[in-house]
Amino acid sequence: MAELTPMMQKYMETKEQYKDCILFYRLGDFYEMFFDDALVASKELEITLTGKSCGLEERAPMCGIPYHAVEGYLSKLVSRGYKVAICEQVEDPKLAKGLVKREVIRVVTPGTNLNVQSLEAGKNNYLLSIAYTPDGIGISAADVTTGDYYVTEVEDLKKLNDELMKYEPSEIICNEAFLVSGFDVNDLKSRLHISVNALESHMFDDDGCRRILMKHFKVNTLIGLGVEEFPTGLLAAGALLQYLYDTQKTDLEHFTHIYPYLTSKYMLLDSSTRRNLELTETLREKQKRGSLLWVLDKTKTAMGARLLRNYIEQPLIEKDEMEKRLDAIQELNQDSISRDEIREYLNPIYDLERLLSKVTYKTANPRDLIAFRNSLEMLPPIKTVLSVFEKEELTEIREQIDGLEDIYQLIDEAIIDEPPLSIREGGMIKDQFDETIDRLRSAKHDGKQWLAQLEEEDRERTGIKNLKIKYNKVFGYYFEVTNSYKDLVPEDYIRKQTLANAERYTTPRLKELEDTILNAEDKLQTLEYDVFCKIRDTIAQELVRIQNTAKAIAKLDVYASLSLVSERNHYVRPKLNEKGVIDIKDGRHPVVEQMITNDMFIANDTYLDNGSHCISVITGPNMAGKSTYMRQTALIVLMAQIGCFVPARTANIGIVDRIFTRVGASDDLASGQSTFMVEMNEVANILRNATSKSLLILDEIGRGTSTFDGLSIAWAVIEHISNRKLLGAKTLFATHYHELTELEGKMNNVNNYCIAVKECGDDIVFLRKIVKGGADKSYGIQVAKLAGVPDMVIDRAKEIVEQLSDNDITEKVQSIAIDNKNDGKAKKQPKYDEVDLAQMSLFDTVTDEDILKELMEIEVTTLTPLDALNTLYRLQNKLKNRWNG
Ligand code: ATP
Repeated sequence: MAELTPMMQKYMETKEQYKDCILFYRLGDFYEMFFDDALVASKELEITLTGKSCGLEERAPMCGIPYHAVEGYLSKLVSRGYKVAICEQVEDPKLAKGLVKREVIRVVTPGTNLNVQSLEAGKNNYLLSIAYTPDGIGISAADVTTGDYYVTEVEDLKKLNDELMKYEPSEIICNEAFLVSGFDVNDLKSRLHISVNALESHMFDDDGCRRILMKHFKVNTLIGLGVEEFPTGLLAAGALLQYLYDTQKTDLEHFTHIYPYLTSKYMLLDSSTRRNLELTETLREKQKRGSLLWVLDKTKTAMGARLLRNYIEQPLIEKDEMEKRLDAIQELNQDSISRDEIREYLNPIYDLERLLSKVTYKTANPRDLIAFRNSLEMLPPIKTVLSVFEKEELTEIREQIDGLEDIYQLIDEAIIDEPPLSIREGGMIKDQFDETIDRLRSAKHDGKQWLAQLEEEDRERTGIKNLKIKYNKVFGYYFEVTNSYKDLVPEDYIRKQTLANAERYTTPRLKELEDTILNAEDKLQTLEYDVFCKIRDTIAQELVRIQNTAKAIAKLDVYASLSLVSERNHYVRPKLNEKGVIDIKDGRHPVVEQMITNDMFIANDTYLDNGSHCISVITGPNMAGKSTYMRQTALIVLMAQIGCFVPARTANIGIVDRIFTRVGASDDLASGQSTFMVEMNEVANILRNATSKSLLILDEIGRGTSTFDGLSIAWAVIEHISNRKLLGAKTLFATHYHELTELEGKMNNVNNYCIAVKECGDDIVFLRKIVKGGADKSYGIQVAKLAGVPDMVIDRAKEIVEQLSDNDITEKVQSIAIDNKNDGKAKKQPKYDEVDLAQMSLFDTVTDEDILKELMEIEVTTLTPLDALNTLYRLQNKLKNRWNG
């Protein structure tokens, strides 16, 4: 029976251990793939499929890639979700007896890809680990290109999803239990285009996880690491670390810290709010341009860009932390000359974190070290400029930046300014750095002179006038004698090669010189390589100093960027309060104002609190600017909590614990949910999870169903939110149901606002100004006309709308409102288990006194005629509603 060749047998043994990977098997200058791997890879990489005799009757399918081009091919496979095991020759083929020994030196997966070129510079590439247990869900995330390593815990799958959306990992590993937890893993895979793989259960074993964490961080207990309080988190972190050891096969030295954090330390943002507010990418095109990140990101370094993204992904909730950041930005604003100087120095700084991981992985080449040196050169001047600043954050940054002069000096003295890419061919170490290198170099150099001398001597001795010593890789050094001088060749010349018009010879003396010169060359290359590796290792030993410096530089870059943006875009420092008052004067949408030309953005005020201004019901025509206004409020609050200046004339921001948004209609057909179902899911989530400290942005609730159902739902939602004993969260509620404006008179914490438009005959002009009062029309038909809907359809719509208004639902609505007011206790109350309904009334009803108070507080001198008219209308409306009731 046919048997596999010895080489193929070895291949199969290795493949057996890496069944879930494509195996790159090093043969000479190529990585070869065989059998199924070859079929898959040839298709994915578009390379030729050939065959190799393997001992069996049929040849083994085979394809290969040259070793020097491996990175590109590797990244292509990994980005498509494949895992690749790289099997190298681990002994010198020249010295090997029998088959060359080979070993898998690394497994590359989407979450452990080190090829920086194929990754986005301003974004971390996270591998995420999930430990699903009955006691909670542990989460750990790590980026092998930077050494960042986090751990936390959440209570339920909903919060897990929110955390996942924050990290946007490129690969997830988990325990088996997670796959049967009810979490829609397939949906997750297709949404993020990632692989989710369960690891064997022993990887999540408590003892094992503790052991590996302690061993890695060289500690005897986990208390010092701060992970002891995260019993499920540490399972996720331990399994992740084990997975990294198994795949990376290095000591992971650059993982010097683990950062445990409580999710409650940051503002909670669920995945739909992140999407709706377009924090880091736009909703539709998924592009950075058009997002908040796009406006705020003027960072100069990749580290700064990544940190800014993290800041935006997790706004703060502690006032002091925000104030510290705001102080730093303000101080930079006040000395913009120093700030701009710092930005100049930041400009040439490379991605120190990713360079450093190349150093620890021993893949950094001489050019990387020169880039490193050039970056380090900027540190001392940055520290000097920073010394003019006094605010805590900036002084801390200055202290944290280590000038790293020793490392700068080491590289500067050792590596030439423009070194070759390869570390194997020499020519990278500077003269006078290493004595032996200098000696070998002079041997190489002197050797050339010896050759010249020998050439001269033999020319005279033999009388061959054009005698030359030449070199090629195959024959080494030789004398070349053209045919015309053949007769003069002396006896001691030994023929090496015959050409058409010349003969090539050597002599014992030439052979001797050749040995000395070529040996020097070989030795030199080996020695230069050794010296280079030593320098790289010396740098690796200073890991913590370099990492801390890189983190400080990233922070400085973020502050400088936010400062510059505040100055350029005329942002102001927000005041922060813990009383729950949001008072924004002349607020602007940070992104829309950048997108529209000629400074045409119309600023608007927002006032919300947990008292009489809890809910603003916003009406107004389509296209008037309702969504823009609501999002701008959410973004201003979020920016303040990032610790950033805000687009407004003044802003006093009551810190919120969460922002929820329910914006527009979006189908989620992939997961089998209709538009209306998606909408209701989001509403349910908001009503269940919001607190009185949250900010709610509700746009168009109840639009995806029949008018009556929709209106009723919207109405009931407002009732629920406005009731302080149930929720009482600050809310902006945009709607086309004008009937909801009836609520203003019925609940004293609901206020109507509308976005003003001017009617010009059949057309409308958008004024984009928010004013008190409710709109009574949607002007949908006018907007349809503006959009170019054919006249015939527009005319017919006008006819229909007139007929429909006859069946006015407003009357019915008014009667519900009156019913509620007359008998607020029982009739329309929803049933809530958690609260004692007997104790409370459904609404806080408006009294005559409230209306008089409001009248008293009006500042008549500052009212525009339009505002005055609206105010009059609103007050009259309130009185009518009261008295009619
Ligand atoms: P619809 O009810 O149809 O959803 P809308 O009232 O929510 O409409 P938006 O989508 O907020 O309207 O705004 C429509 C357009 O108006 C925006 O794309 C923006 O370009 C412009 N716009 C909105 N607000 C302003 C403003 N304050 N100043 C200048 N332009 C604005």
